Amino acid sequence: MKKFIDAHCHLFDCDLPDNIGAIVNATRPSEWGAVIDLTRNNTNICGAIGVHPWYVADLTAGWDEQLQDLLIQNPDIMVGEIGLDKYKPDMDLQIHVFSRQLEIAAELGRGAHVHCVGTWDKMFAILKRYKSKMPPFILFHRFSGNGVDVVRLCADYNVYFSFWDSVRVISDVPISRILIETDSDNPLGVVAVAEQIAENVNCDFYKNTMGMLKNG
Ligand SMILES: [Zn+2]
Repeated sequence: MKKFIDAHCHLFDCDLPDNIGAIVNATRPSEWGAVIDLTRNNTNICGAIGVHPWYVADLTAGWDEQLQDLLIQNPDIMVGEIGLDKYKPDMDLQIHVFSRQLEIAAELGRGAHVHCVGTWDKMFAILKRYKSKMPPFILFHRFSGNGVDVVRLCADYNVYFSFWDSVRVISDVPISRILIETDSDNPLGVVAVAEQIAENVNCDFYKNTMGMLKNG
């Protein structure tokens, strides 16, 4: 049976058949425990915990130590969803929280699952600052950059890109770096995403995702 992995989804409560896997992302501290629990009894579910740029204003002191502690206790958990979003407030705080989480991911050797909307200049500046100490991989989910961004990212970093529909930049993304996602609370939808994207690009999304996960 053909296998699929939803490379970026959020907390869900449906049962997954054996041929469907998922990488479930938390968006704020209140979801961290639930994401860890969901991965615990499911070999086909991986998890990432972090603070999404939409929720940085709600953080309380010590959030980063709590994140670090939970990651140390759970060596298979990655860092996500983290990032920057031009259309949300508190950009300085977003940058601080994103940078801190990138540092933690690098220190603990965990892959990072990143959201970047409308702020590629700021994203590139931060990546450059941390270039000597990066997480083992970065997945840019629901990728919204352009072809030039793809080329720059692939030249300097171990990056993957996930898509939820066929988009114009797909032709610039190396075939082995293309993943698929639902960004939803229902990873079963990944089969339809795979079918749609497969109309334009011929690659093994499952193999690509497994390759990424092997990196850390
Ligand atoms: Zn998301």
